[in-house]
Amino acid sequence: MIEDRAVRIAAVAAAPGVAVGRWTELRRTALPAPRRIDQADAPAESARLKAAANDAALELMALSDQVAESGHEDEAAIFAAHAAMAWDPALMDAAIREIEAGTDANGAIRSAGQATAATLAAVEDELIRGRSTDVLDVCDRIARRLAGLPTDEDLLPAPAIVVAEDLAPSLTATLPRERILGIALESGSATSHAAILARAYGIPAVVGAAGLIAAVRAAGSSKDLAIDGSSGVVVVDPGDDDRVQLAERATADRAARERDLEEAALDAVTTDGIAVTLLANIGGPDEASAAVALGARGVGLFRTEFLFLERNQPPSEDEQVDAYRRVVEAFGGAPVTIRLLDVGGDKPIPYLPMPTEENPFLGVRALRLAATRPELFVTQLRACYRAAAAGPVKVMAPMVADGRDVETLLALASQARSALLAEGVLIGDVALGVMLEIPSAVLTAPAWFGRTRFASLGTNDLLQYTLAVDRGNPALERYRDSLHPALLQLIGSAVRAADAAGIELSVCGEMAGDPVAALALVGLGVRSLSMTAPSLAAVRRAIRAASAERLREAAAAALAAPSAAEARVLFVTVQPS
Ligand code: PEP
Ligand code: MG
Repeated sequence: MIEDRAVRIAAVAAAPGVAVGRWTELRRTALPAPRRIDQADAPAESARLKAAANDAALELMALSDQVAESGHEDEAAIFAAHAAMAWDPALMDAAIREIEAGTDANGAIRSAGQATAATLAAVEDELIRGRSTDVLDVCDRIARRLAGLPTDEDLLPAPAIVVAEDLAPSLTATLPRERILGIALESGSATSHAAILARAYGIPAVVGAAGLIAAVRAAGSSKDLAIDGSSGVVVVDPGDDDRVQLAERATADRAARERDLEEAALDAVTTDGIAVTLLANIGGPDEASAAVALGARGVGLFRTEFLFLERNQPPSEDEQVDAYRRVVEAFGGAPVTIRLLDVGGDKPIPYLPMPTEENPFLGVRALRLAATRPELFVTQLRACYRAAAAGPVKVMAPMVADGRDVETLLALASQARSALLAEGVLIGDVALGVMLEIPSAVLTAPAWFGRTRFASLGTNDLLQYTLAVDRGNPALERYRDSLHPALLQLIGSAVRAADAAGIELSVCGEMAGDPVAALALVGLGVRSLSMTAPSLAAVRRAIRAASAERLREAAAAALAAPSAAEARVLFVTVQPS
């Protein structure tokens, strides 16, 4: 009998699909601390630095050519500019002076880079200021070469399942997608941004896989890893039985995907005739056509920050117009809801240095950045007004806490619109709305809903802030059920306030894509749900098989439930078998 060496781990399902293959652990190792050196070693250390800088520059030129060949001219230009920085004699002279003063090459290049970056950061011109992070990037690359550490593009040289403690959204967005077979994270939750991105890109993913890193390391890199992103099953060094089971699962997944496409034209209507509009959450124009194919009747959430994360400078107004217009055109007349930039929290951006915060999720995130960087939002709003000339556009502000934040949105939008009109630029009508993702916004909404045209409940953050549950912490999984009665009560209040004000209300948090939770939302009176495209079919099926009357009764009972578990049972039992 063959010995079963497989290690099975129960993880949290984060993005559907099966992946079996080699794994690679992504670990961005910290650079060594600077060392003191003897004066006599300075010439050799300087030579080592010059060689490393030259190698880094050549590597950057090669990267630039490679990126240009794949049609990304802007990114190619950035890598070419980085190569020029690595060859910059002024930077090199400054570093060599540090070496002569007794610092090793690694410490010297980083210190010279920091001094140059600080000088650039103090310059009036925004474009030059933006270069400061590029210099730091380049010096980091040279220091990594000196220390023999891998650079970001070395991290995934061949197709593999990415294993990591957690993945920053920027890294998830920039890794070569064609080489990611799957994602398996020791930490994280299904509502963390890495998981949301994996779903959007169609990459199978599991999160919260406790013990995963130790298990793959113990098995060794010559062993395979298997993950099922629908059930959360993880198998390290899978045996033949595991492989057969997972292959069957993959075949079933493929058949289910075909059925999903066939059902795309069906409306989401309950058995007693209540219609629900199903919309898509997207992170970029490339996701639009798949969402249309799966039957999305518009975009309920376009997370624009991913346009801002994958680069070294903010996208220009024209680039943004192009991205937004592509989505508007793909949806051919159906509304596209663009969310203004939501960075900070778990989405830092390199060219927007922010002071380190103790609690970034409670810090200067999203619309709160408008106090110091209004131009980012005005540029984005200008792009939205321009894209609206091509079809219906709605714009919503993230992280609105109260009526004053709504006034901030209206003022920024008015500034953008008046300037465009004065310039004679062609614009369209834009409906302005807000995200309800902070409890204070829901509680004060009746006082300011009249100032907006629509609202969308961001239940990922609303749950995080209502239950004091960090959205990425796997130890708190038991609290992370969106059917928590406290969340349901806030949603119920929002529905009543929106009805009273006569404005549209939708839900765009991950809750809307969970078929059971979607039924609860319909029971609470929500008539518009937005989700990642692969979830549309299952939610549509659940709605088409349910009676709105029974959902209303179940929702009333759920509001009084002591915890999410009791509330969930009420909707599982009304679900069709
Ligand atoms: C939410 O918070 O529910 C939401 C949709 O926004 P994000 O997940 O991007 O924070
Ligand atoms: Mg949010």
